[in-house]
Amino acid sequence: MKITAFLSLFFLLNILQPLVAQEQSTASSLTLLLTGQGSPVLIGDEYKLVEEAAVAFENMSQAAAQDSIIIQAVSSYRSFDRQLAIWNRKFTKNEALGLTPDQNIKKITEYSTIPGTSRHHWGSDIDLIAAEPKVEGDVLLTRLFENEGPYAALKKWMDAHANSFGFYLVYTKEDKRGGFQYEPWHYSYLPTSKKYLEWYLNLELESILKDKNILGKEYFTEEYMQHYLEEYILGISPELLSQKKE
Ligand SMILES: [Zn+2]
Repeated sequence: MKITAFLSLFFLLNILQPLVAQEQSTASSLTLLLTGQGSPVLIGDEYKLVEEAAVAFENMSQAAAQDSIIIQAVSSYRSFDRQLAIWNRKFTKNEALGLTPDQNIKKITEYSTIPGTSRHHWGSDIDLIAAEPKVEGDVLLTRLFENEGPYAALKKWMDAHANSFGFYLVYTKEDKRGGFQYEPWHYSYLPTSKKYLEWYLNLELESILKDKNILGKEYFTEEYMQHYLEEYILGISPELLSQKKE
């Protein structure tokens, strides 16, 4: 009997072992994917999005073109390394201008995310402008999308139609929203990003960022990261937040 029990346990452990290992590797590959360190399958020539978002984007672009709005992607999928380069470049520049680390981080996070926390890592989010009229210099400026600005017609079209294609503005204009500044160019494909955000909220960000080469990371304390999570990561249009309460 004892032998049988032992053998049963032995077999059970042998069956469970690969399952546990598989679960751990799935968890870590999901972590890599959500933080821009994975290898997602991306579609598109002028942009890079995951397939379901790319298909919806093509449909939306075609509909807009019929109304004489030519949508142009400025930025879509971005890897961790790309975001790291953006962050470190800004940090170094601000430091040279005399900003303290606190001021520096606050300044960068007006528009840019800490590497590993960008929605652009997911392949669900895209920064858009209109191909016409042509604008010289920096194109991602709020005033270009307002009043008689060159992208006002695009913005008006997106206000009326984007949601029906699954795309939502992330960093809306409402005063009560904290975190990143208003970005009239940044859209998210909701069916993908809502799911990703739900998974994302289970990650232990601090431990993920701790061994990375991010300038100023010593200021990413537990307290700061909690604030960053609530104000910045969750400081988005309520439609993109999961209805489920934790
Ligand atoms: Zn963006």
